[in-house]
Amino acid sequence: MKKQQETWSVLKVLNWTRDYLAEKGIVNARLETEWMLCAALTMDRVGLYVNYDKPLAPEELSLFREMVARRARREPLQYILGSQEFMGLDFDVSPSVLIPRHDTETLVEEAVRRCPGAKRILDIGAGSGCIAVALAAGLPQAEVFSVDTSDGALEIAQRNAERNGVRVTYLKGSMFEPFRNMTFDLIVSNPPYIPTGDIAGLEPEVRDFEPREALDGGTDGLDFYRSMIPAASSHLDPFGWILFEVGIYQAPDVLRLFEGAGCYDSLFTTLDTGGIERVVGARKIQEKDLSNP
Ligand code: GLN
Repeated sequence: MKKQQETWSVLKVLNWTRDYLAEKGIVNARLETEWMLCAALTMDRVGLYVNYDKPLAPEELSLFREMVARRARREPLQYILGSQEFMGLDFDVSPSVLIPRHDTETLVEEAVRRCPGAKRILDIGAGSGCIAVALAAGLPQAEVFSVDTSDGALEIAQRNAERNGVRVTYLKGSMFEPFRNMTFDLIVSNPPYIPTGDIAGLEPEVRDFEPREALDGGTDGLDFYRSMIPAASSHLDPFGWILFEVGIYQAPDVLRLFEGAGCYDSLFTTLDTGGIERVVGARKIQEKDLSNP
């Protein structure tokens, strides 16, 4: 007997895929299915609802199947769709960069609040470029610099500046290396801060797909703060601010590092929308205070 060709309507595909992805442990299976289907069919969600009975064309079906297979292997949805929203702006993402997190918006908002007149800003660890681009958009008078060790990240970050119509100078290197004689009135960073031993226990999306070098902060997760806090002192203008995103429960340790450096005052922490201390920052004291304590 000849096998009957099955027709896959939008609704049938939605329901089947939702159940399949839910079985694979994906929490928002229905919504994620809708987003992938929107991408495969190049329509918005309303488009899906009004086309429930429409059969998918073979090319649409194979494109969608490919996306579903990737998601079932727990690749993050953002890498499959190629974008993520951050501070109301759209960012290209690829496996070369950490996916922008909502938590990191707290860092950007606090930086803008503390430094509304910033003239020269440095963002360490460009990644997707989300921090530098959002700061350039929010503080249009400022000259924004950003640095990363990864060519893949710098390429995406540059594209994201263009995509969002802002100017950011991206340089390759480690932390302050390309900025030997430069000072800034605002320095920000969301460095890798996950303790090495915790990485194995993270969600597969993060553990198996996001760049390890954007996550791993060494044994206690604090390696980058330990090097940046003393090093930043010679790159900050007097009264310049430095702000870091930190991981859960890391704020007290990072505050202690600022205290120990002896060249900062006005130490503070900022809570994220989940009530976690997410940002730690301080202000560089005036030079003469250093030489004449
Ligand atoms: N916030 C990220 C996470 O929870 C980690 C980002 C970082 O290490 N800076 O996975």
